[in-house]
Amino acid sequence: MVFQNVDMEKLEREMQEIRRDFHKYPESGWTEFRTTARIIDELEKLGLSVQYGPSIHVKEKMYGMPDPDVMEACWERAMKETDRPDLVEAMKGGYTGCLAVIEGALPGPTVGIRVDIDCNDVNEADVPDHVPAAQGFRSVHPGCMHACGHDSHAAIGIGTAKILCACREQLRGKALLVFQPGEEGLRGAASLTAAGHFSGCDYFIGGHVGLIEGIEIGTVAASGHNFLSSTKFDVTIHGYPAHAGASPEKGKNALAAASTAVLNMLAIPRHRDGASRINIGSLHAGTGRNVIPAKAKMTIETRGATAEINAYMEEHAKRVCRAAAEMYDCSCDIRFMGAAGDVTCDPELIDRVMEILPGIEGVEHVIRDVYFGGGEDVTTMMRDVQEHGGKVTELVFGFRLKAPHHNDMFDIDERVMGIGARAFAGIALGL
Ligand SMILES: [Zn+2]
Repeated sequence: MVFQNVDMEKLEREMQEIRRDFHKYPESGWTEFRTTARIIDELEKLGLSVQYGPSIHVKEKMYGMPDPDVMEACWERAMKETDRPDLVEAMKGGYTGCLAVIEGALPGPTVGIRVDIDCNDVNEADVPDHVPAAQGFRSVHPGCMHACGHDSHAAIGIGTAKILCACREQLRGKALLVFQPGEEGLRGAASLTAAGHFSGCDYFIGGHVGLIEGIEIGTVAASGHNFLSSTKFDVTIHGYPAHAGASPEKGKNALAAASTAVLNMLAIPRHRDGASRINIGSLHAGTGRNVIPAKAKMTIETRGATAEINAYMEEHAKRVCRAAAEMYDCSCDIRFMGAAGDVTCDPELIDRVMEILPGIEGVEHVIRDVYFGGGEDVTTMMRDVQEHGGKVTELVFGFRLKAPHHNDMFDIDERVMGIGARAFAGIALGL
């Protein structure tokens, strides 16, 4: 497929500059203020009208928001680092991410294309054989790093918009570009989905760089399978403090209740129908040696090969927490923090994508289906599209991995961005 009016070399240089800018200033879920502002700015330069701010989200579904002091500090940091304080101002409170529609000249379907834009909570390596450190675009935000390639996803999304805007005359229907915040921790998709942005999509395509071990640049997978369903939740057990020597009978021991809950959650029987997981990642409780602990907080996640298996683990775990609290006459608050389901990509759309991909410059080898084996927040959007009659798939743009995802030495092969943008745009034009 040839994209008329597109200087591909120039576009690849632009995507590299944009990706390196995002890499240097990474922002984690719901704090992608500077990142979103730059994306909006780039899309507006193309003449697109961009949707952003509180109106694109359903507040009650913005899961796993950072604590208010963290949110405020990140926002103030973005205000100092951005060229578009007007946009950062409009996102105050964590309303990050944006959407834009590219209208084609011809009638046809609506194709949703979704990229994610957040970083990981990782300190980036500072050694000479790590390219971002050697070439001056290592993260300047301690504890924040693009260690999953979402910096390149955001750049690919902008590159896709540039190609499609230049090819409007050939575009049948329209493309909906989605820049999703808060993918890590499976937090951001629900709010955008609940706002109804995707129900009109005939086709919906996600994508991720890397992921597959032992393959070369130019390999693209047309779909993924075995997304694990997962639920993230925090449990706080409230007791009553008392003197541990003088009046222990007056106390209600939240730490004892939480400890009982931890051991019994780990004892939930496994499920015969497939993989199940549970992790209690943290437990914080108590205030001092001679005080009956009045409060205990746990961060928990369950996973399952299917939504049913995950629901089995989640319900069992919550029942254990409530019952353990009851044992010690404590109360128990359960706060939902994030979730994603499994999804089955549609064979009909995969067939179409399999036909289009070999004609894309830079695509050397096409795989029909790869094992995903993790959670992906895009599945929340995809299920909504499927429930409204649309077809979905998730592409994987491979390259030779130098370090695993979420590792402090993770880095991408930047050639993958040209491939990703051409593949997304080519599919939108081909459908
Ligand atoms: Zn990722």
